[in-house]
Amino acid sequence: MWSDKLFFSRLGIWSRKQSHNVRREEGANVALSLLLECVGTGEISCLDGQASPVAKQMLEKHGSRPFEMNTNWVGSPQEWICPCCRRPKFEISRVGNRGQILAKNVIHHDHMGDVLHEAFHAAFAEANTELEQMDGLRLIERMSEAFAAYEPVLVCEDCNNADTAAKAALEIPREFSFSVGQISRFIDVAAHRSHRVLEERARVEWEAAKAAFVLRMRIIKAVAKAAATDCHWYEPHDRQFEPVPVYSHGGRHSEIISRWLSWETLSDALGMQTRIAPRDMSRWRTVRPKPGRQLPPNFVAMLRSVDYMAEKWDATPSDWCCPICSRGKAEIVYVSDKGKVHFSIVDAPRAWQLEVRICHHCDKLQKRLGWEVEEFVGDFDDSERIASPTALSAILLPRAHSDHAVRPDEAKALVGRLVEAYG
Ligand SMILES: [Zn+2]
Ligand SMILES: [Zn+2]
Repeated sequence: MWSDKLFFSRLGIWSRKQSHNVRREEGANVALSLLLECVGTGEISCLDGQASPVAKQMLEKHGSRPFEMNTNWVGSPQEWICPCCRRPKFEISRVGNRGQILAKNVIHHDHMGDVLHEAFHAAFAEANTELEQMDGLRLIERMSEAFAAYEPVLVCEDCNNADTAAKAALEIPREFSFSVGQISRFIDVAAHRSHRVLEERARVEWEAAKAAFVLRMRIIKAVAKAAATDCHWYEPHDRQFEPVPVYSHGGRHSEIISRWLSWETLSDALGMQTRIAPRDMSRWRTVRPKPGRQLPPNFVAMLRSVDYMAEKWDATPSDWCCPICSRGKAEIVYVSDKGKVHFSIVDAPRAWQLEVRICHHCDKLQKRLGWEVEEFVGDFDDSERIASPTALSAILLPRAHSDHAVRPDEAKALVGRLVEAYG
């Protein structure tokens, strides 16, 4: 929504009218004055400033005083709301000790990456080794994000200060920092003043977080020590060396080619079609797939841990069943060879013109069937058109949590009919 406003603003319209030959320096002055005007009217609100509608509201409230605004304030949208204390910018603003209007936002970090670096240097010094540990240091750099309890997040300065104040009051190790959720539970919030820290509630949050923090620190120390004393597992490649010099991994020339040709077309044309053994496209009906693994008792929790599967699972009614194989919602769940739990339903092929969803295993089967027919008749417009839902379901032997077994004779006859129809 912000980018839309920017797009349709006077600055956006002006910018699109400029030819590509106009140099940056030539347009900068006009762009800046247009931008200031648009921020001032609120026409552009993805940025803020001393003349924005919000700033005017603040001057009205606090009287005409100088601002103390920081870059995170002017760089964040006028309608931004602190995710921690839920105050909009106007309510965050307050009069500071020197009579100024404070307007400051801060990026709240978990500093575990720094802690890992510190631990590495300490372990290096302690080991008193004369060997350089370049690989170890690179391992640390690679891992430092992994230990953060949360991603960096923009909050108002009062919320960030509440974190510091609570830690000081409870004598919490400096390496720890509270998350936005934790802070929000121990602050007393009001407009135009800093938060009051509710110490007892902060203590509850800290007690709940402590065990995981201690564990994290222990792992960090172990990793740092391994990295600093040559006991680690990481062997980086030389920086000049290209470890996977394969076209589809994004080589230097790929853009020139990829503009015109897909990798599939290219690799086929260059020699991939020279397969020694012909592909056996009939395996889907001649080889009986092994039965699927038993579902773990907590399979719902396991599949719900993956965002897109959680969404699909929740959106599927409990009495749903696949219109092709008639298996119910839980029966189509399966466990991969790696032990991952999957729940997958897809829209029925467009060619069927049915507004239904079918299970992953039915979809897989109708695709394999299509590919086999294609081997005989060549590409055709819509490979999904071939088998009707009834024809497909007639060749299936559905099994819970597994790929479908197939009635071999019926399946072969179906392929025959389709090859005749489309050949
Ligand atoms: Zn806040
Ligand atoms: Zn099905």
